[in-house]
Amino acid sequence: MSSSCLFCRIIAGEIPATKVYEDDVLVAFNDINPQAPMHVLLVPRVHVATLNDLGANHDAVVGAMVRRAAAIAAERGFAASGYRTVFNCNADAGQAVFHIHLHMLGGRAMGWPPG
Ligand code: 5GP
Ligand code: ZN
Repeated sequence: MSSSCLFCRIIAGEIPATKVYEDDVLVAFNDINPQAPMHVLLVPRVHVATLNDLGANHDAVVGAMVRRAAAIAAERGFAASGYRTVFNCNADAGQAVFHIHLHMLGGRAMGWPPG
């Protein structure tokens, strides 16, 4: 827990968010500025600043995040139609919150390559 980290504070309940799932490893909540009809952020409870800071000790956490994204997509009927998952890392990708999070977007067709 980092008191200066926005997502640590959301996980701690200090800042409100619309949570859609939580367990002992991760919390999922709606993005405050959604870029698609579904835009959920999956955030591990452990504070890791960027993808560059992941170690082998985090493999289970990252696996749980990705598998939970697929489960939420299936629950919402997007498994067959499709959805996008994104980890932004550092400046060129536009990372704004330095606590890793998996964006999960669905409900519209998306272009490729991303901007
Ligand atoms: P990044 O650019 O770091 O990959 O994504 C950060 C995401 O966090 C953005 O999509 C942004 O809209 C979202 N976000 C920023 N502040 C808040 C907040 O206070 N609450 C919620 N729910 N999402 C936030
Ligand atoms: Zn944090």
